[in-house]
Order: sequence, then structure tokens, then C-alpha cells
Amino acid sequence: MKLNETLLNIMDNQDPENDNEAMDDHLMSSLETPLRPDAFDLSDQEKINIIADHFKEIMHTLGLDLTDDSLKGTPRRVAKMYVKEIFHGLNPENKPDIRRFENKYKYNRMLVERDITLYSSCEHHFVPIIGKAHVAYIPGEHVIGLSKLNRIVQYYARRPQVQERMTMQIANELKQALQTEDVAVLIEADHLCVMSRGVNDVTSSTITAEYSGLFLEDNYRTEFLSHIRRRQV
Ligand SMILES: [Zn+2]
Repeated sequence: MKLNETLLNIMDNQDPENDNEAMDDHLMSSLETPLRPDAFDLSDQEKINIIADHFKEIMHTLGLDLTDDSLKGTPRRVAKMYVKEIFHGLNPENKPDIRRFENKYKYNRMLVERDITLYSSCEHHFVPIIGKAHVAYIPGEHVIGLSKLNRIVQYYARRPQVQERMTMQIANELKQALQTEDVAVLIEADHLCVMSRGVNDVTSSTITAEYSGLFLEDNYRTEFLSHIRRRQV
């Protein structure tokens, strides 16, 4: 509560003309990705057309010659990439279909899927976040296909994000999909907005984690961390 109030105060005091420091420091305002109710009134193709026009304008404003062979296809290429690839996870229609199976093997130890490739985009700078996600759960009555763990990570990564929110969204989806509270998510990622601009720090990386259910207990958390730290030989 306190944190939210502080964030609201920070946001109320913003001067839109100033570089927004709260956002430059990657604070997040909500667990839900902020979307308008009319977010999906337009078709993908309509969005691509509009974004291509606007991106053309950005390039033109920067002084680039849009008649150049190498540049003229860029606005449409970028628009298509935004809608169909890197922001594909904004649309709930693209949410992976997660089918739950009965836990017939009665496997009730920890299952860890580590080193899941993660490509996302910083919502404050629209540049890449590149990293790895490690997720774990302890099966109860249900299990899901292993590749679904990757798909859940990718779905939430493919939208403008802040790492903290992405971590929570993935954890919540896993709880929902698996019908258990016993889940863990750890994300380690490099933020291009920190590496290639601003403080220009190329060696730092950001780690976020969410634990719930049994993972709040030291021994489960320690086992999870030891699994993800062990390198393959
Ligand atoms: Zn950023």
C-alpha cells in the first residue's frame, strides 16, 4: 500500500516535459499490463498499417531518406515485428492454450525448467530485455506439458514489460495453470536501456524472483536455487 501511494505521488508530480525519473528507474505501477478497454478493437492488419505510418514519420523526422532502398521497407517491417512478434503477448487471444493433465505418475518432487530463453522489451525505452527464466513447481493433482512452461514465459515476455511485473505475471499464470501455490520463478536479465544508454553499464544484470507456497520455505528454495546454479557438463 505504502509503495503504491508513493508511486502515485511520484506520478502525480511528474512534469511531462522532464525525463520521467520514476520510469527511467523502472518502477512499475501495476501488476496488470496497462491496456485500454479498446486495445483490440483494431485488427492486427489495421494496427500494422497505422504503426508503419507513424514509424515512417519518426524516421522522416530523424532526417532519414525514406526513398533509400535500404530504408523504405523499414516502417512496415518494424510495424509487423511489433504486432506479430515482439508485442504478440499483449493480445489475450495469443495466450497459450494450457491443458492440464492428471498427475498419473504421482511425481510430487520439484520440477525445474531452467534457462528458458527470454526476450522482452523495456516498456520505458522500447529496447530489448534479454535473459533467462527459471521456473519450478511441485505437482499436486495436475501437471502440464513441459513446453507450456516455456510458452507461458514467452507470452508474458512478448509485450512491453518491467521485469518485476513479468516475474509476477508468470508466477500467477503458473499457479492458475497448475492449480497450486507451490511455484517459483527467477529471472536474470540484461536490460539494453541500462547497457547501451543512460548509465551505460554493460556488466550489471537484474535478478527478480517470486516464491509462493512451499517455496517460501528455506529448504525448497535452496533446492531450487541449487538446481538452477548447477551448470551442465
Ligand atoms: Zn528501460
